[in-house]
Amino acid sequence: MGYKPESYQPIPGDVLPRFAGIATFMRLPWVAPRDASEVDIGLIGVPWDGGTTNRAGARHGPRQIRDLSTMARNAHHATGIEPFRLCNCADLGDTPVNPVDIEDTLARVTEFYDEVVAQDIVPLTAGGDHLITLPIMRALCRDEPVGMVHFDAHTDTLDRYFGESKYTHGTPFRRAIEEGLLDPKRTVQIGIRGALYSAEDKHWGLDQGIRVIEIEECNDLGVEGVVAEARRVVGDGKTYVSFDVDALDPVYAPGTGTPEIGGLTTLDALLMLRGLRGLDLVGGDVVEVSPPFDPSGNTALVAVTTMFEILCLLAERSASRPQPG
Ligand code: MN
Ligand code: MN
Repeated sequence: MGYKPESYQPIPGDVLPRFAGIATFMRLPWVAPRDASEVDIGLIGVPWDGGTTNRAGARHGPRQIRDLSTMARNAHHATGIEPFRLCNCADLGDTPVNPVDIEDTLARVTEFYDEVVAQDIVPLTAGGDHLITLPIMRALCRDEPVGMVHFDAHTDTLDRYFGESKYTHGTPFRRAIEEGLLDPKRTVQIGIRGALYSAEDKHWGLDQGIRVIEIEECNDLGVEGVVAEARRVVGDGKTYVSFDVDALDPVYAPGTGTPEIGGLTTLDALLMLRGLRGLDLVGGDVVEVSPPFDPSGNTALVAVTTMFEILCLLAERSASRPQPG
């Protein structure tokens, strides 16, 4: 499984044409976690949509995102950041999942990330539905709760579904706060909108101290205002970035299970992410890409580009961190 590369560089497009070869995230080498001691940042797929409550399909996200990764290149056009020069990056493959058992899948995903965390690898994940962030946080945030910059149309802080089901893609951050993985007072949710099951749905998160910037306030604040507020909320502590593609308007990202009209533009979302430079980022994910609803691959291209934006942040942060030993 995987191989040990001599360099952790993407395969150059003038060595192997961009449309050729076996698809990996950003044309990086594929390395098994147990062989990844030299890897600084691991790109990981979680092919899972068992937490989806309506339109499924996000289990196919990682494969289509890897396919569209053929469009990725090496240097950020605006910031000049070259993540593959700053850090050893690799595709660590997909986590194990059990397509017919939610709790077994949560355990398998956490076990995979335990190995990643043990090797001091910063994870950047492609989902999968949004429930996958919970088992990632169970591995990543075991020692202390993190802050979070969360882009989404939905708060994902609901409690139960169909009576007693605790685990859906609408509940991960309620569980993460209950489990002490996520600090609600250092959590900011950006782009929230859409009709609710009831008006009370908003109360729990606000009562915990989450800063919710609904889409109307995003519009009023503008990109710079949203960035300033996000930075104020998360501060200097360890912070995770979670990007649900349904934060974007469905004209940009139709390939998702729970689209909500009136969302962010792709450009505003990229600029907001870029505004997070210098934060103490410990990992990130891009979730809810559902290829059956966008066979064109445009939503997956949005996800690849968003992952690259987050990768630049993680690489700059990792490179500036003091090296152990
Ligand atoms: Mn979500
Ligand atoms: Mn959502």
